[in-house]
Amino acid sequence: MKISIVLPIYNEAENIPILYKELVSVLNREKVAYEIIAVNDASEDNSLKVLKDIAIKDKNVKVINFRFNSGQTAAMSAGIKYATGDVIIPMDADLQNDPADIPKFLFKLAEGHDVVSGWRLNRQDKVIMRKIPSKVANWLIRGITGVKVHDYGCSMKAYKRDSIQGVQLYGEMHRFIPAYLAWHGGRVAEIVVNHRPRVHGVTKYGISRTFKVLLDLIVVKFLSRYMNRPMHFFGGLGFVSLGLGVLAGLTAIILKILHLRDFVSTPLPVFSALLIIVGVQLAAMGVIAEMLMRVYYESQDKAPYRIAETINFQV
Ligand code: UDP
Ligand code: MG
Repeated sequence: MKISIVLPIYNEAENIPILYKELVSVLNREKVAYEIIAVNDASEDNSLKVLKDIAIKDKNVKVINFRFNSGQTAAMSAGIKYATGDVIIPMDADLQNDPADIPKFLFKLAEGHDVVSGWRLNRQDKVIMRKIPSKVANWLIRGITGVKVHDYGCSMKAYKRDSIQGVQLYGEMHRFIPAYLAWHGGRVAEIVVNHRPRVHGVTKYGISRTFKVLLDLIVVKFLSRYMNRPMHFFGGLGFVSLGLGVLAGLTAIILKILHLRDFVSTPLPVFSALLIIVGVQLAAMGVIAEMLMRVYYESQDKAPYRIAETINFQV
């Protein structure tokens, strides 16, 4: 078995050598083959130089260097793409996640899970700006995805490679991978992990990330439920809007015929026109989305299903 550790790195020069030492000591004790994939997300400090110095001496350390800052999710996604291990463990490079937890993740995966998510029960971050927003966000994500993970935001997670490779990550979406995998038949488990305060360097995020996470959540939810049939979503809304528009129009006409209300003395004609236009637009959007969906699947040879195994087929 081989393990791939994936580290997104943005301005962590002081943390890298300490983390490297901790990782090597834990991984050697486990007596498994491993690689450490460090993705330098265009750091402005000395991080790249520090990584290169380590990589020259240790061939298990592989470095991917981004041309420009692309964000933690992108860095993680690149690391996962190039990982060759059977197990992939991404973690923060700022020493907040603890390499000493790696054996616990491996143990849990070996029980037969596809993903093991870390839970920072004793999180060492600011209460008002980070911990409370995170509690609310996690509660919302659990409600909307229906997957009961406590701490979606914890970057330290472990994946079986077969289950994660091929999953495309955008925006802040790395945190939704457990939910995504659960929807596609993956078995998800959770373990409590150690969390340490940041000593060197500064956090790259503030409260605004919570909102970005929630926007991404809507996208993930939409894509998972309606990706294959966008017309059912847009068309459904369009029907409702069109129906209400026709109803409002008819009501206005009846009121006029019965001499109860003139067209100009009720807002109904305006509503009617608006709702009918919106309804037609939504239906048209549904058709466009259907076309996009076909381009998406067919251009990449993707299928709207995932096969776990086949028996007696010649490949
Ligand atoms: N990171 C990155 N690119 C970015 C921002 C952050 O690769 O644009 C890395 C960062 O170096 C760290 C991890 O993502 O290893 C988490 O970042 P941070 O510790 O700032 O987040 P927090 O722990 O405060 O949520
Ligand atoms: Mg951190």
